[in-house]
Amino acid sequence: MLIHNATVITWGKQNAVLPAHSVYIKDGLINDLGPDSQLEKKYAKEEKLDAAGQILMPGNICTHTHFYGAYARGMAIPGPAPKDFPEILKRLWWPLDKSLDEKSVRASALVHLVDAIKCGTTTLFDHHASPNFIDGSLDVIANAVDQTGLRAVLCYEVTDRDGDAKAKAGIRENVRFIERTSKPDAAGSRLAALFGLHASLTLSDETLDACRAALPDDAGFHIHVAEHEADQEDSLAKSGLRVVPRLVKHGILNRGSIAAHAVHVDAAEIEMLAESGAWVSHQPRSNMNNGVGAADIDALTKAGVKVVLGNDGFTQDMWTEWKAAYLLHKVWHRDPRKMNGADLAAIAARNNAALASSLYAGPSFGAIIPGWKADLILVDYHPFTPLTTGNLPWHIVFGFQERMVTMTMVDGKVLMRDRKLLYIDEAEIAAKALELAPEVWARYAQFAEAAMNEEKLDR
Ligand SMILES: [Zn+2]
Repeated sequence: MLIHNATVITWGKQNAVLPAHSVYIKDGLINDLGPDSQLEKKYAKEEKLDAAGQILMPGNICTHTHFYGAYARGMAIPGPAPKDFPEILKRLWWPLDKSLDEKSVRASALVHLVDAIKCGTTTLFDHHASPNFIDGSLDVIANAVDQTGLRAVLCYEVTDRDGDAKAKAGIRENVRFIERTSKPDAAGSRLAALFGLHASLTLSDETLDACRAALPDDAGFHIHVAEHEADQEDSLAKSGLRVVPRLVKHGILNRGSIAAHAVHVDAAEIEMLAESGAWVSHQPRSNMNNGVGAADIDALTKAGVKVVLGNDGFTQDMWTEWKAAYLLHKVWHRDPRKMNGADLAAIAARNNAALASSLYAGPSFGAIIPGWKADLILVDYHPFTPLTTGNLPWHIVFGFQERMVTMTMVDGKVLMRDRKLLYIDEAEIAAKALELAPEVWARYAQFAEAAMNEEKLDR
């Protein structure tokens, strides 16, 4: 297929903005890139997609999300509003993940995946929890991903908070799914895996060691790190170490691992994160929503930590996350120079693509380069000031909106065209999810009530 009559944004190291350009796609890969005048002649007989002057660019990537949180939309938390992040965990997320069964895990994944296609997010790193439906839960999500045509890196959040048997089941589920995605016949698959862990504060030394021992050598972990001070207090009480040294000691942070958040890490921990080679995923909307503070992205990047951008289960529109990051660090530091557009693009475009590409065999993706995978979007954005490689990040922050995404393609296959989903029915997916909502919410209300009573007893 030849996509022609486009302004091509290539991303990649040699980022370029190329008006009146075409991209030729063959066998799921970007095969050729050049001016319309040349490629329209060269591929005259091929199927064409007229971009009509729109922007053609790589799809967005989200490095940390939670499909399982979908049923939190519009849900009431019984009792007074949670006063801090530990209460949000105990009274919202943990009772909610307990409420999920096979059907609702599938529905949660599908509604997020629909959103992702419509927002032009083509690769997602999901961090899943459903303690009452662990075995096979990643297959259910994988099937949903497969059905939608997107690309996803899955894992199960191992935790001790629901007892030893469920911690072991979580380990088993990760190992099983890592093995499934690393089989030779899985090459070229749009699915990949990491080994999921909830957070230091719900993991014993024994469980951390069991996870490390179960991890195939070349795989990485995906874990929440120091999202709130409570993670540090718990780690110090349990081990005498802060969270990052504790995880390093147990072999959890390596070059393939993702540490989500890193809001409450000190200077020594930042150095350790840089030395470990682990990626730190930043989620500004979530940090603001939970009132946990802001990760010091400036200090992390200066220390050489590879920072990437996720959304922690918010909507899958990554440009909204760009905007949140762009604004948050200015207000947090009271300095308008913080998180400038170029730094943001290095994180959200370049680093996200490097992390995602490292988890898949074969060609890379996240840039328009011949030989790379064709995960692409068309954006109906018509700049009224010059659009250049230098000012592109500011056009994105101040001008791009997800509703402008008109075409989403993964592996050369068009999943949405002219904003119409080609293989899945959004209304049907939403209706099925809605049908299950009363029973999920009823189960949640019971678990939430129990959590509130437990808390009262603790006081
Ligand atoms: Zn998270």
